[in-house]
Amino acid sequence: MSNFLRKELSYVKGIGPKKAEVLQSELGLKYLQDLLYYFPYRYVDRSQFHTTRETFSEQTFVQITGTITHIHTVGEGRKQRLEANFQDAYGSVKLVWFQGAKYMQENLNIGTQYVMFAKPKLFNGAASFVHPQLDTLESFQKTDSQTLEGQYLTTEKMKKFYLNSKALLKIIKNILAEHTHEIQETLDYNFYHQHNLMPLKEALLNIHTPKNQNLLDKARFRLKFEELFYLQLKLLLQKNNNKYIYTGHKFETVGKWFNTFYDKQLPFELTNAQKRVIREVRTDCNTGKQMNRLVQGDVGSGKTLVALMSMLLAIDNGFQACLMAPTEILATQHFHSITKMLGELGVQIDLLTGSTKRKHRNIIHENLRSGHTHILIGTHALLEDEVKFQNLGLAVIDEQHRFGVKQRSRLWAKNTVIPHVLVMTATPIPRTLAMTLYGELDVSVIDELPPGRQSIDTHHVFENSALRIIGFIKKQIAKGEQVYIVYPLIQESEKIDLKALEEGYERLVSYLPPPEYRIAAMHGKMKPEEKEKTMKHFKDKQFDILVSTTVIEVGVDVPNATTIIIEDANRFGLSQLHQLRGRVGRGSKKSTCILVTPYKLSQDSKKRMQAMCDTQDGFQLAEVDLKLRGPGDLEGTQQSGLNLDLKIANLSLDGELMSLTRRAVQELLDKDPYLIQPENLSFKNRLKELYQQQVDWGMIS
Ligand code: ADP
Ligand code: MG
Repeated sequence: MSNFLRKELSYVKGIGPKKAEVLQSELGLKYLQDLLYYFPYRYVDRSQFHTTRETFSEQTFVQITGTITHIHTVGEGRKQRLEANFQDAYGSVKLVWFQGAKYMQENLNIGTQYVMFAKPKLFNGAASFVHPQLDTLESFQKTDSQTLEGQYLTTEKMKKFYLNSKALLKIIKNILAEHTHEIQETLDYNFYHQHNLMPLKEALLNIHTPKNQNLLDKARFRLKFEELFYLQLKLLLQKNNNKYIYTGHKFETVGKWFNTFYDKQLPFELTNAQKRVIREVRTDCNTGKQMNRLVQGDVGSGKTLVALMSMLLAIDNGFQACLMAPTEILATQHFHSITKMLGELGVQIDLLTGSTKRKHRNIIHENLRSGHTHILIGTHALLEDEVKFQNLGLAVIDEQHRFGVKQRSRLWAKNTVIPHVLVMTATPIPRTLAMTLYGELDVSVIDELPPGRQSIDTHHVFENSALRIIGFIKKQIAKGEQVYIVYPLIQESEKIDLKALEEGYERLVSYLPPPEYRIAAMHGKMKPEEKEKTMKHFKDKQFDILVSTTVIEVGVDVPNATTIIIEDANRFGLSQLHQLRGRVGRGSKKSTCILVTPYKLSQDSKKRMQAMCDTQDGFQLAEVDLKLRGPGDLEGTQQSGLNLDLKIANLSLDGELMSLTRRAVQELLDKDPYLIQPENLSFKNRLKELYQQQVDWGMIS
């Protein structure tokens, strides 16, 4: 990058130290290049002209050519203002200034032709224009401003320092006029030619001062392309470097455990998606490089089985495997269901959680070290230092979003050769976001549910439907089926929420009295053992209804529970609602999800409820979520540590461009995986510039 772009804004013509300070504190702009990359958020059309005779609306800009016939101050003291009469061939309008009156009075000339541009204020049908933009017709015709004019977001404080949108445009125009020749291309000539991109100079010129819509579109495309390109380049380069650095265990054979399980124990046919993912894992684990694979699969798509078969593959090759779940309930559930599936096969499995007793724990530690244990299932407890494997070959992490990057990397530190890692998440993430968030992982998708799954009837009702809901619950229980009722629990309002749960429980008991109806309550304040017990009793059909906060959220499997009622559903995010709904519909029986909300709902809440009723596809819901909330608020993005605060590209709208840039990056890296060829050094340098700190090649995320 040339030096001028690194020039501090205080030295730029028209800015100075005061304004520079405001630009930095308000917008975080410090250097000249920051300002050049501060793009308009929209454009107004300056090619349209109006006359004073037209009827105006306060929403649209008006542009009139005319002259000032007289100009005078009116009012007293603080109410004092400057008014001018602005006239064209058809009549006249009033122009008003509350600030800068002296300057205007000295600089405006009566009789000169001006182009006036502003939004009107309407009063009794008469239009006046406050602080209009005025250019002499002569200068207007000389510049490019007869076309689209960029509007920049500004703040109140900026306006106080005369840094409104117009002023910013003027400063930027000056910079461009003086320095365009110094802007260096950031993409290789052949490259931008091949991808049909506008050169950077032209792009910057046209993003700030577009000559026409077509050139503006091209400029935007170029700048978005570049932004996404370097984001992808960073991620994929990191991935290549990880592979380069980390040799992995080789799983060469598919042997006795895998085959016997497949032939003798597997109670059903694998879905094609499951088969595909298992194949991908097998290929990965046989390359001699360490696997880092993410499996995305909707709730109920059968990820556990994929995990199990991958672990059998590890055992077949003489390695141990572990499976880590975010909660004790889930770890225990995995332990039981996997033990059951494996039957008499003879695989040694242990369960290690926070509540494993010391004595038993010591035995497990010993078994792990001696190699007696094949598979260890557990919670965070697996990460403790005293847990040492003889030879851990594969680590599976379930419901990934609960684990931070740090915790994951602790798993690796246990061996000299780090284990293959398979991460499983039931929170589907839109494709574009997955490419970014998990750019350094290989992603598999289980996009198919096992056959015979019933769709879940989903209804949105208002709070006043309580009696109808009670009637429905009675009917379900009469059929011998079970019901979940879920209340939101948000940390900040924990007390109020617990109260809502208690009150809801009381109300329910009054409608559905024991002993005919058996109702259990479960919440986050209970001890893990208590929760465990309640869950187990519910599973064993000792309760008909489980009233709960979101502690049942992920992974819990009770096939006989066929109804879920979500109270205050508007307070849940889409992915949470989808997860909760996934608690039912796990057997062959027809299931129902009822979303209860207040009558008054925000637009976004309405859309979320609608989306839930419209589809059961987690990926589709994730797309809706991304559109409603933006990438920064989606689950998993915060802990990603990635800056998704893009300047011009939009992860929810630019999916296609994201794929395009990813392909471009892949093409580049296929030829030069570590960017060491001289002709590609410019890419690497630019990357370093963009991500300031040296890209941490060794970092695992
Ligand atoms: P999730 O992907 O949500 O973790 P699970 O692995 O818990 O889903 O599987 C959900 C249910 O589907 C389990 O009861 C499991 O035994 C069953 N299942 C998994 N794969 C298949 C299959 N190919 N055919 C039929 N049922 C399956
Ligand atoms: Mg699961």
